[in-house]
Amino acid sequence: MKAGALFLIAALAADAATLIRGAMLADGSGAKLRQADVRIGKGRILRIGRLAPQPGDSLVDGAGLVLAPGFIDLHNHSDRGLDREPEAASQVSQGITTAIVGQDGGSPWPIASWFQPRNAAIHTAILAGHATIRRAVMGDGFRRAARPNEIERMAALLEQAMRDGALGLSTGLEYEIGGYSTTEEVIALARVAARHKGIYVSHIRDEADKTFEALREVIRIAEEARIPAHVSHIKLGTVGVWGKAKEAIALIEAARKRGLDITADCYPYDAWSSTITVLIPSKKYDDPESVARGLADVGGAGNVTITTCARHPEYEFQTLEQIARSQNRSPVDLFIEIVREGGAGVVCRSMKDEDIREFYRAPWVMVSSDGGIGMRHPRGAGSYPRVLGLFVRERKWLTLEEAIRKMTSAPAARLGWRDRGLVREGFVADLVLFDPATVIDRSTFADPFREAVGVRKVWVNGELVWDSRSTAATPGEKLRRLPVHAVR
Ligand SMILES: [Zn+2]
Repeated sequence: MKAGALFLIAALAADAATLIRGAMLADGSGAKLRQADVRIGKGRILRIGRLAPQPGDSLVDGAGLVLAPGFIDLHNHSDRGLDREPEAASQVSQGITTAIVGQDGGSPWPIASWFQPRNAAIHTAILAGHATIRRAVMGDGFRRAARPNEIERMAALLEQAMRDGALGLSTGLEYEIGGYSTTEEVIALARVAARHKGIYVSHIRDEADKTFEALREVIRIAEEARIPAHVSHIKLGTVGVWGKAKEAIALIEAARKRGLDITADCYPYDAWSSTITVLIPSKKYDDPESVARGLADVGGAGNVTITTCARHPEYEFQTLEQIARSQNRSPVDLFIEIVREGGAGVVCRSMKDEDIREFYRAPWVMVSSDGGIGMRHPRGAGSYPRVLGLFVRERKWLTLEEAIRKMTSAPAARLGWRDRGLVREGFVADLVLFDPATVIDRSTFADPFREAVGVRKVWVNGELVWDSRSTAATPGEKLRRLPVHAVR
C-alpha cells in the first residue's frame, strides 16, 4: 500500500462517521414515524435517507428501534450531581442529553463562573435564580417586600447574568426566599430578562388550593414584562383543585389567544416526595385541626406513605392510614406523634391521573423530570421512559411522535435553539435509540435509583455516551442563551 492510500485511510478514520441503519425515525417534529438511515459525524448530523455504508463508517443496526433527537429536560436538578457523576448514567439511560438547571429560583452564582467548562456526558444550560439574586441583595433580611433600590440592585445582577449567558430568570415563589417577593418585584426583574430575549420560568406561588391565582400571576408577569413565560411542573396538588386541569388549560389558552407566549412542563408522576411537615402549610404540626385539614387536602391519610422514619423503621412503606388502623388510633394522632418524635420522609399521592393526562394532551405542555442525579424520587431515574412506556404504549394518552416532540423540538424552540431538538441534516448530533416495545421506568419510591430499561444508545455531539451502559465519554457542553421565539 502506498503512503497516499495510508494517509487517506487515516484521514477517514479520524473523520469517522457513525451510520445508524434501519431505525424508525421519530424526528422530533411530531411527523409520523418513517424508516431512514442517519449518518452522524463529530458534532453534527451529516445525512438522512437511504444510505450505503462508506469506508470508515461504524455501523449501528437500528432495526426494530426508534431513533429520536436527544431529550431536552426543561426542569432538571443535576448541576451538582454532574460534578460528582459526570457520566450521568441515571440521566442518559433515560435518553436525556440536555438538562436545564438553575431551577425554582436557585442557581449557582455568579453565572459567569458557572460557565467554566467541566466534563459531563450531557449538555447543560442555566437559568438565573431569583432567590439567589434576592439573597445576594437582601442578605438574611429577605422576609419582606424588597425596596425599590433593592429591586434595582437585583436587576443589575440579573442584567449581568443575562449577559453572561443565562437562559432567563427562574423563580420559586412557593419557597422561603422568593415567597416574600411581590408580583411587581418579579415583573421588574422579568423585564430585564425580556430585554435580553430571555425567558421567565416559574415554580409558581401555589400548587394547591390557590393554583389558579398563581397561574393568573404568571400570566400577568408575562403580559406586563412582555416575556415568554413557562410554568414548571404544572400540577393540581390538593382535593380543592382536583379534576380542574381542563380549567387550568383553558385559562392559559385564553392568554395564549391574546398573544401571550405561555407554556408549561409536567413530570409524569401523581405523587411528590418530601418531609411529613410540608403537609401542614400553617406549620401547626401539633394542632389536631390543622393536621386534619392538611391530611384532608391531599385526599386523606391513605395517600400518605412513610418512606423513611428513623424512630419507627417498621412504619416504612405503610400509609398513615394503615399504621393508624393497626394501632387503633386516628391518623391525626399518629401524625402528631411522628412529628414530635423527629418526623419522617413521606410520599404523597396528591395528584390525579386524569389531570396529568389532560396536561400531557395540551400541545404546549412539555415533558420534564424535575429530577436529576441523586434525586430520591423515581422521577430522577424514570421520567422519560415512563412517558414512553406507560403514557404512550400502555395507556395510549398520546402518540409516540407527539411525546417525542414534547421531549425534543418543543423544548428546543422554547429556548430559542434552532439547531437542536430535530433529526435534521446539520443539526447537533444528540440522538437516542430506544426500543419502543420495552422502554419503561423501573425506579420506584422504595428504589428511586433503579435505572430505566429500553434505551439502547445515546449520542451527545455525535459521541456515544450510553451503550446499554455508560461509555464514560463526556462530550457535553454548557450552552448559552439564544433569543427565544414563541412556541405555537
Ligand atoms: Zn419546583
